[in-house]
Amino acid sequence: MNENNEIELTGGPVEDLACKTEEALPQAAETPPLEPGFAKFGLKPEFLSALARMGYKEPSPIQEETIPLIMQGKDIIGQAETGSGKTAACGIPILNKIDTGKIEPQALVLVPTRELAVQYVEELARISADSEVRCFAIYGGFSMPVQQAKLRHGVHLIVGTPGRLIDHLYRGGLSLSSVHTFIIDEADEMLDLGFIKDIEFIADCIMGEHQTLLFSATMPPTIKALTGKYMKDPMHVQLNRSVVSPKSLKHYYLRAEEVVKANALLDLIKKSAPSQALIFCKSRTRVLSLFDKLRRKLPNVDFLHGGLDQIVRQKIMERFKAGKLQFLVATDLAARGLDIGGISHVLNYDIPENPEVYTHRTGRAARQGREGVAISLMSTRENEYLCKIQKRIRVNVNLLGSENSPVQEPSHKPRTSQRKDHYRRPTEFTYKHKRPQRDPAKEQ
Ligand code: AMP
Repeated sequence: MNENNEIELTGGPVEDLACKTEEALPQAAETPPLEPGFAKFGLKPEFLSALARMGYKEPSPIQEETIPLIMQGKDIIGQAETGSGKTAACGIPILNKIDTGKIEPQALVLVPTRELAVQYVEELARISADSEVRCFAIYGGFSMPVQQAKLRHGVHLIVGTPGRLIDHLYRGGLSLSSVHTFIIDEADEMLDLGFIKDIEFIADCIMGEHQTLLFSATMPPTIKALTGKYMKDPMHVQLNRSVVSPKSLKHYYLRAEEVVKANALLDLIKKSAPSQALIFCKSRTRVLSLFDKLRRKLPNVDFLHGGLDQIVRQKIMERFKAGKLQFLVATDLAARGLDIGGISHVLNYDIPENPEVYTHRTGRAARQGREGVAISLMSTRENEYLCKIQKRIRVNVNLLGSENSPVQEPSHKPRTSQRKDHYRRPTEFTYKHKRPQRDPAKEQ
């Protein structure tokens, strides 16, 4: 640790570690003996038994550092991405701190999307399966009366998206007065989606003394401002930033101009025969138009974007997770955090301008040491984006079919790439105990 409270970890994501876990997990009845790996943290036995059953033998680098700090009650800024085991890094100690004698929300996790809320709470439910802790996900698009009933019945830990949480706070069915741990997950994404006022509102509703944990892939100035305002002497725990892409993931590109992209994609799918592929487009309109072209040729394809009903979104995710759906065309809603083992291919129908988005998208494949392939369909105007990505992830993005031919800088920049984004996010926090005006679409 240096004088700025910073800890830099040399380890990488959990993939290498996770692939050492046994393929077939033991059944509940034959819980193996306590694992020294997690036992050293002094966790309650009910969590150790569940972790052992889940096959978590050793803590990942981020877990190794953050679990003891969280248990000591420190405020933490964890710079780590999905795949690093950060859900458990945060989840294990907060579950361990829950007093099941008090039936009140004691920990609150904010996440940017409904899908992440479900996935987060599922991981917590597995870790707390042998305990009395009640975890619950609160997100928009799901029946309000059911959520109210569940809250009345009593929960200990809530994972939620900001908008719906604020609705509950306004209706009076949710009190945060006993919350002692407040977690903002994917903080960079949350701020990118313009959730800042909502986060401030919720943070202001946690009146009691509490610990704040913030997990973020990057550390933009907006997050720094938030940390100054809401955290006490935070410790920085940072995963080695050079490890941005799993070793088992291969990156390729294919030249395809806009007019032939759909056909090129179909041809690519035919040749590469993915077991499961996630196909990314840059907008909802592009998702719909591509889906329309693919559905005529592919039997097992669906699409996902934030404009769909929550029930539909959930059903699609369930089918995709269960491997019943082979191709999913999606916006960046599916880029972050989703942990779906079967995805062999990530196909970028549109190449993102932001290398971080590329890293998140492609990180949906090659999880936990499995082989995976990321293929980007590159038009002339996207050439510069892919060059920027290649530099940032420090891995060659080779022309498909030839291993040693990384993408080259375009010889001249096309005029269309000169466009500048004139929108500037306001940086001042202006909120003063007034319900924030929000756009429900931001949650997606
Ligand atoms: P996350 O970064 O939280 O999305 O976790 C990535 C994947 O690693 C998930 O499938 C977790 O179940 C798994 N995982 C997390 N911690 C461990 C661990 N200590 N050992 C094995 N697998 C883990």
